[in-house]
Amino acid sequence: MCGIVGYVGPKKASPLILSGLKRLEYRGYDSAGICIIDAEDLTIHKKAGRVVDLEQSVDLSHLTGTVGVGHTRWATHGLPNDVNAHPHTNNDGSIALVHNGIIENYLTIKKKLINAGYTVASETDSEVLAVFIGMLYDSLGNLEQAVQTALQEVDGTFGIVVASTHEPNQLIAARRGSPLILGVGQDEYVVASDAAAIIAHTRQVVYLQENEMAVLTRDGFTTKTISNEETHSVIEEISFELEEIEKGGFEHFMLKEIYEQPITFHDGFRGRLLVDEGNVRLGGLAKVQEKLRTAQRIIITACGTSWHAALVGEYLIEQLARVPVEVEYASEFRYRNPIIYPDDIVIAISQSGETADTLAAIREAKLKGATVLGMVNVVGSTIARETDAGVYLHAGPEIGVASTKAFTSQLCILTQFALYLGRMRDLTAEAGRELAQGMAQIPDQIRSILEHAESIAHIARQYATATNFLYLGRGYQFPAALEGALKLKEISYIHAEGYPAAEMKHGPIALIDEHMPVVFIATKDETYDKVLSNIEEVKARRGTVIAIANEGDHQIDRLADHVIRIPTTLPMLAPILASIPLQLLAYYIAVERGCNVDMPRNLAKSVTVE
Ligand code: GLU
Repeated sequence: MCGIVGYVGPKKASPLILSGLKRLEYRGYDSAGICIIDAEDLTIHKKAGRVVDLEQSVDLSHLTGTVGVGHTRWATHGLPNDVNAHPHTNNDGSIALVHNGIIENYLTIKKKLINAGYTVASETDSEVLAVFIGMLYDSLGNLEQAVQTALQEVDGTFGIVVASTHEPNQLIAARRGSPLILGVGQDEYVVASDAAAIIAHTRQVVYLQENEMAVLTRDGFTTKTISNEETHSVIEEISFELEEIEKGGFEHFMLKEIYEQPITFHDGFRGRLLVDEGNVRLGGLAKVQEKLRTAQRIIITACGTSWHAALVGEYLIEQLARVPVEVEYASEFRYRNPIIYPDDIVIAISQSGETADTLAAIREAKLKGATVLGMVNVVGSTIARETDAGVYLHAGPEIGVASTKAFTSQLCILTQFALYLGRMRDLTAEAGRELAQGMAQIPDQIRSILEHAESIAHIARQYATATNFLYLGRGYQFPAALEGALKLKEISYIHAEGYPAAEMKHGPIALIDEHMPVVFIATKDETYDKVLSNIEEVKARRGTVIAIANEGDHQIDRLADHVIRIPTTLPMLAPILASIPLQLLAYYIAVERGCNVDMPRNLAKSVTVE
């Protein structure tokens, strides 16, 4: 993952780089580092921990240079300590590099360097690349060529920015597999992993392409491929506002994002859902409409929370459009030589649009001739650009590492996709209208759940010391149970498992005793009575039950220890509403335990390594 920021321009670079890094900390917070070219010397400060730890450990105000780079790390190779922190340099300290990604052949390159008399001090793959560029510079005497030659020999992924005393007014940026965006200002350039670090300075950006490099000076920039072919860059405009990536009075980004869901869900169907016609207009899919009409099979590939959304998508598409769907972990899909037919539709779901496993999976699918669609949140992200067609979530920037609003937006898009596909096939306008009307009510229904957040916080406080949780649901609520358990694990570090409620008796029931809180999603649908029986089974073994149930359902009161009410909707929309209290439950438990909700340990938001 990692966040990278580089600056070239007339201003003092260090405050600008540090504020950019803070906006990128969701990408990793194992260490932070900065390198400024000061009076033709490289001054580097780096430290394990967060950007504020770096700021507190050393006075950075003396850094007056106007060219520099910074990094916030999510360690892949080597401990999160000071030595492994970026920037890394070549042996004589004249070239500094920040890196996002993994150099897969770093051991081979390292051997070559050591045989040639060079040294490597850290455990990282990134330092090997810095020393390698240094070695090539020693023989070529040209920084740009040294970077290019090194990158041609590298296997794996990288977003890098290089600063050097050999070219003190210049930065070199390059990418393969990891994102890099170039912000184009007035006589200044900011290069960063994400537009969030750029928007305070300019809205004009260039998305660097795969295997592309850029050379930036205060007077302009040039781009070319790593293998030295010319490229033409297009300047685009960032579509979101600065306020959207700030906390706006909430204690955490996660809470802010939970509360944004009435709006973000609405934004997901605004201009798309045609309630009266019981249909959907998805402009981004127009060019593949015929392929969708005749597709015999759909494969959805994703990771983490997006994979849970994909499971709901499977149920929706099979029910509404009667097309067989397979849901695949992207990381597994790629490596098991999957069977893909040219008339298959492969859908990639990813909040960031940069998830390395998902990206690798769609490249594999494309290679095998499938039509590949993207459902991503970040506009202009790699998955958005590499897919044949797609639908954006329009959920706005999601900063909290544990995904909330992106999940409900994914469900919003998948429901519409299933409806769109269904209406092209056998689904009646009447059935379509019923679903569309149900969707149109969701934003207000989410609002009404949020009004009762305090009662969920009250329950959360009573269970904050639990060490295990079980989440159970059936049908459409099974993926919601998986997602509820994942939220709790991610931010509170309590072990939690999601299961189909009926599966409990085939194993997990052995875990039930008075210390095991069990969250049941028991909304009204065809399995409701069976879920009540499952609750009885837990109560008979002295388990504690927290039930998510519909308003007006009093049958459940006599069984559950706590009932969290949600409005009634169609069963296929119910996981959307169920996820809101599950997000809040996880959030309040984590806060009660004193956990860092927005930056849970070991995680990062955008997983750009495989
Ligand atoms: N491989 C590099 C390191 O461990 C960069 C990691 C990343 O991009 O997440 O420092």
